[in-house]
Amino acid sequence: MDINKAKKGTASVWAGETDGFLMGAATVPIVNSVTYSYDDLDEWYDVALGKKPGHIYSRNSNPTVDVLEEKICILEKAEAATTFSTGMAAISNTLYTLLQSGDRVVSIKDSYGGTSKVFMEFLPPMNVAVTLCETGNHEEMEAEIAKGCKVVYIETPTNPTLKVVDLKRMIKAAKAVGATVVVDNTFATPINQNPLVLGADVVVHSATKFLDGHSDAMGGIACGKKDLIKKIHQYREINGATLHPMSAYMIIRGMKTLELRINRQNENAMKIAQFLHTHPKVENVFYPGLPSHKGHDFVKEQMSGFGGMMSFVLKGGYEKVKTFLPKLELAFRAAHLGSVSTLVGPPRTTSHVELTEAQRAKLGIPESLIRYSVGIENAEDLIADLEQGLNAI
Ligand SMILES: *Cc1c(COP(=O)(O)O)cnc(C)c1O
Repeated sequence: MDINKAKKGTASVWAGETDGFLMGAATVPIVNSVTYSYDDLDEWYDVALGKKPGHIYSRNSNPTVDVLEEKICILEKAEAATTFSTGMAAISNTLYTLLQSGDRVVSIKDSYGGTSKVFMEFLPPMNVAVTLCETGNHEEMEAEIAKGCKVVYIETPTNPTLKVVDLKRMIKAAKAVGATVVVDNTFATPINQNPLVLGADVVVHSATKFLDGHSDAMGGIACGKKDLIKKIHQYREINGATLHPMSAYMIIRGMKTLELRINRQNENAMKIAQFLHTHPKVENVFYPGLPSHKGHDFVKEQMSGFGGMMSFVLKGGYEKVKTFLPKLELAFRAAHLGSVSTLVGPPRTTSHVELTEAQRAKLGIPESLIRYSVGIENAEDLIADLEQGLNAI
């Protein structure tokens, strides 16, 4: 069958792996070779110029890494993909490729911490104007985009309060001024949301999170329109933030169960959000699947599932968090997300640790906010674990 027409569970397993491998191997070989030899100098020349398929040097391309790029292309409905050593390498290389001195980028205030740093500290000295809008304030963002910009950069849902951005609406505004739209799809994954289908130009991922899914490899991906990805790839070749073939293999292996894992995480997260939503010791729950969540009306069209990420606020302040978190038995207390195991942490000590209490308050991050990345365990057990933790405070 045409793998491009396969459903996402089938594509997770087979995409990039339909051609058969060396000696009939059942799994992608890890090609650790740095370089590739040619007896025929004409062939070498053609491969080096990209006129013929093949590999020259593994900073530029590698057979194992190729398989991962092909897999993500099919799942995200992208024309092309290129990979990176980490998610931040994917994001920064993409921004540095697309933005030059004198350009302007419009984005949101709630993007990933590392991305925010690029916007606030790295791009301005390069004479790139950066405008960060209130996340979810679509009128403000439309007005800023309409003033003219080269790139519109969106993340949805966002960390840590799961704010959502209307992609169709922002893409329309961007198209009107000829801006390139980049979307960080890490939280949603291609199983729940396909920004390229909605008209975005480039999708970036931290493959370290849900794509790998097992907390054992780091990687990044940029995929989308062929001409843009080619430029981003050329930047990466020279900048050198290449994905290691071993990590590519781990991510490919993780992605075979992507659809299974994400569907389970969607289901678990919905049940847990509903449980927490009515719990007397919980002040607030942020989960895009709850009808009370701001933006639920458009996000239910934009996403086919609401994902495994949520956060909630305990009544009684940070002291309660200090009692509650150590009680949890089915959660790693760590600054990470998107794994098969549930991961938990307060933004106060993880993603937003460098800010003051007042700065966090300004961003709408209460001291007793807890970010909860739901794993693939059984929902009943996770709910029982949360319940015993809540009973202890
Ligand atoms: C983790 C993360 C990143 C950065 O990815 P790394 O692989 O850690 O470099 C970027 N965006 C989002 C939304 C993330 O969660």
